[in-house]
Order: sequence, then structure tokens, then C-alpha cells
Amino acid sequence: CVLACIPMWLEGTTLLLEGIFRALNIVLHVIQIPVQAYQTLTAKPARERKRVVIVGASFAGLWCQRNLYKDFDVTVVDYKRYFEYTPGILRVFVELRHLPRITSALPKLSSKFVCGEAIGINANRRLLQVQTKSDGLQEISYDYLLIGTGSSYAGSIKPSRKEVTSSERLATWTSEFERLRRARTVLIIGGGPVGVELAGEILTKYPEKKVTITDRAEDLCEAFHPNTRSHIKRWLQKRRCNLVLGESIGGKYPDLAIDSKGCTLRSGRRLSADAVYRCMGFNPCAKWVANSLPKECVDSKGFLIVNDHLQLKGFANIFAMGDVMTHASNEIKLGHTAEVNAHLVVDNLQRLELKRPLLSYPYGVVGARCTPRVYCISLGKYDASLGFNWLIVNGPIAAIFKWLLEWTKVMACREAPIGVFFWAVADKMSNFIGKYLIKTQDS
Ligand SMILES: Cc1cc2nc3c(=O)[nH]c(=O)nc-3n(C[C@H](O)[C@H](O)[C@H](O)COP(=O)(O)OP(=O)(O)OC[C@H]3O[C@@H](n4cnc5c(N)ncnc54)[C@H](O)[C@@H]3O)c2cc1C
Repeated sequence: CVLACIPMWLEGTTLLLEGIFRALNIVLHVIQIPVQAYQTLTAKPARERKRVVIVGASFAGLWCQRNLYKDFDVTVVDYKRYFEYTPGILRVFVELRHLPRITSALPKLSSKFVCGEAIGINANRRLLQVQTKSDGLQEISYDYLLIGTGSSYAGSIKPSRKEVTSSERLATWTSEFERLRRARTVLIIGGGPVGVELAGEILTKYPEKKVTITDRAEDLCEAFHPNTRSHIKRWLQKRRCNLVLGESIGGKYPDLAIDSKGCTLRSGRRLSADAVYRCMGFNPCAKWVANSLPKECVDSKGFLIVNDHLQLKGFANIFAMGDVMTHASNEIKLGHTAEVNAHLVVDNLQRLELKRPLLSYPYGVVGARCTPRVYCISLGKYDASLGFNWLIVNGPIAAIFKWLLEWTKVMACREAPIGVFFWAVADKMSNFIGKYLIKTQDS
């Protein structure tokens, strides 16, 4: 009876929290009006502002936009017209109406927006080349160029160049939703957080479907804390998820023995299903940079190489952040770390203007040798595993936390005061907690 009440209790709690936050948002809006009026009056005249061009309107890019538009002439470039909260996208496989909840229009009031695909950089003339549908090839001048073009993922998980508007994106998801709904058996290739979260969504909505996860690793989510791993495994096994672990797929990357009806393992064993999903990691979107700058800027896996100040190798006025770049800290690529990168980029850009020494990553932002390791792996709507360095919280409380992160982040990207305020406080708190209370092993 207690277990049966959890979904109701969770839905009720999130509804109540949403109501409170929406009311707070109105209060903050009112408080903000005189503050914004004062800022507009005291702002630098447009002609005195340096031009910052940000490519990629997601976690890293939008963090920079929110923190730079008051002092710089900011232009944001993206090939789609909306922000989509990737960590929440897997729920859309089973609940189509979740898509608008995790999508927001891009902020237009505070900076310029160019809808188009960045295709090259002329570093000598400080020009970004952008292919737009409406005006063809455009060249945008910059004093500083910030690259946050992130990564691509197999299937529909991340928006493609063809999904420029949210209605085009909805069309993709409508067919994905139908494909999964019709499938009686599902094969998920990859037992990392994405594969596990997808299985969690499917088994929560469709407990009758037969789901198999296969991975060459011996355990699910190998890179995560043992308490997280055991919680995930127990949860999936309880729902009769078939785990085929410790066996590689036949063929050689990228030509693996995977097709639309299943995959063949190296042992010759065939895993078949009505629907097959590849959850095997992401690829950086850096080819367009590699095409126009020296090849020393890009590593063998296609990531942009940055120095300790997050400047692109060899360029003082070009920064890279988020999934698209690789840095010596080798931290896991998350929305959270993309924003911590962005934080340092913003600080360093301002320091360049003031001719002050630049900060190094990550110490310059978090005051420690590594960023707090914060993650939340959901298991459907009502369960999750939350990690903050060594502290692990499993169960419905973690699921509420996941909802809170999602709701407030989408609000922040909509420039709603409650979202911006929540994350200004949360970022500071997480750095403080990571430094003094729940420390990383390296700090
Ligand atoms: C299924 C899934 C679940 C995840 N769950 C979590 C989670 O729970 N917590 C977490 O912290 N992280 C999670 N992550 C990781 C997180 O989503 C990424 O680390 C994060 O999105 C990286 O942000 P970014 O700003 O670097 O780039 P991205 O989010 O990849 O965005 C890049 C942007 O650049 C644009 N772009 C790309 N190329 C061009 C171009 N040439 N011209 C113009 N625009 C371009 C794209 O349209 C996009 O808007 C998850 C990832 C996946 C796939």
C-alpha cells in the first residue's frame, strides 16, 4: 500500500513545489523591474561594448549569454530556435506531453540571435561564417568567440539540423513515441546512464514490455558509485529486465553488428527486438571548427583542445566549453560541468578586458582541484539515484530532486527570475558543499 502511494505522493509534491515556485517567480519578477531599469540606465553604450559571439544555445552557451549580455554586445548562434533540456528527453519516448515542459524559446530580449549553422571561422579577420536558411551565408564579426556546440547522439535523442523549430521536433518525437508504443520487445545497446534511464522510463510506463540491456562492461553504469550501481541493478532486475553484460558486440567500431532488428554478439549470440536503441555515447560537434583552423586544435577523437584557461589551443580570444572540448581535468561530460566551464570562460573574458591574470580550470571557479561530481540517474518517474561526490541518495527523494533540477533549469533558460535565482544560489552552494562538507577525494 505504501509503495502504491509513492507515485501519488510524488506527483502531489512536485505539483505543490511548482505552485510555490511559480508564486515566487511572480514576486521576483516584480522585484526585478526597478533593478533592470537601473541596469539599463547605467549600462555601457552599445558602441563601447565588445562583440561576443556564442555558438551553441544550450547549457554552456546560454550560461554565458545570461552572464555577459549586460556588459557585452552578445550574439547567439544556433541551428535550432529552442533550448531542449537533454537530461529530460528520455521521458518523451513514453510521454509525448513532456516535450514542451523541457523546451523553451531562446532568449531574444537580452541579446541577438542568429538561426543558422556555424560552418567556419576566419580567425585572422575575426569572422564566424554561418549558413542560414533565410539569408544564405552570413559573416559575423567578433572580438571574442565562445564555442559551445556540444555533441551529437545516435537516433533522435538530440535535435538535428533538420529540427529547426519545436513543431519539427515534435513531429520526430511523435513517430518515436509510436514506434516504442508498438514494440513488444526492446533492445538497449549500452548500459551507461542513458541506456539505464531509457530502460527505467520504458519499464515504468510499459511494465509488460520485455526490455534487454546489453553492454560489454561487467556492470551497469560502471563509472558511478557502487551504491548507485547496486540500486540500479536491483531496480531493473525486480522489473525482469534482461541484462546481457560482459559481452562485446561483433564487428569493429564503427561497423558494429547492429541493425534495426537487433545485434549479434562476438560469441555469435543474436539479440533480437522490435525496437533497438543505441545508447553508446556521444560525438563532439567540432568538425566545423576543425575544417577552418589548424589541426592542432582538435584531438584524435574530434574534441577541441583547450588550455587551462579554456582558450582554444593557439587562440587567446576563442574559448571552448562543454561536450565539444577536452581538458586535462578529464571530468565527465555533463550539463552541470558544461556550465562550470562556462562560468570560467565568462570570468576569464572579463579578466581579459580588465587586463587581469586569467583563472585556471577548475580551481578558478570551484576553489578545488576538481568540480563536485553531481549526478542524478532516474529510474522512471518515481525513482532515481542521486550522487554528490561520495554521498548517494536512492529512491523517491532523488526523483523529486531530478524533477527540481529539470524544472528550475528550464526556467533559467527561459530567463524566468526563479530559475536564474535558484541556479545562482545552487551553483554557489554546490561549490561550497563540495569544498568543505561533502568533499571530493581530490579536493
Ligand atoms: C540522454 C542524455 C541524458 C543526460 N542526462 C544528464 C543529466 O542527468 N545530468 C547532466 O548534467 N548531464 C546529462 N547529460 C549530458 C548533457 O546533456 C550534456 O553534457 C550537455 O548537454 C552538454 O551541454 P553543451 O552546452 O556542451 O552542448 P549541447 O547540449 O550538446 O548543445 C550544443 C548546442 O549547439 C548547437 N550546435 C551544434 N553544432 C552547431 C553548429 N555548427 N552551428 C550552430 N549551432 C550548433 C546545438 O543545436 C545545441 O543547441 C545527458 C546527456 C544525454 C544524451
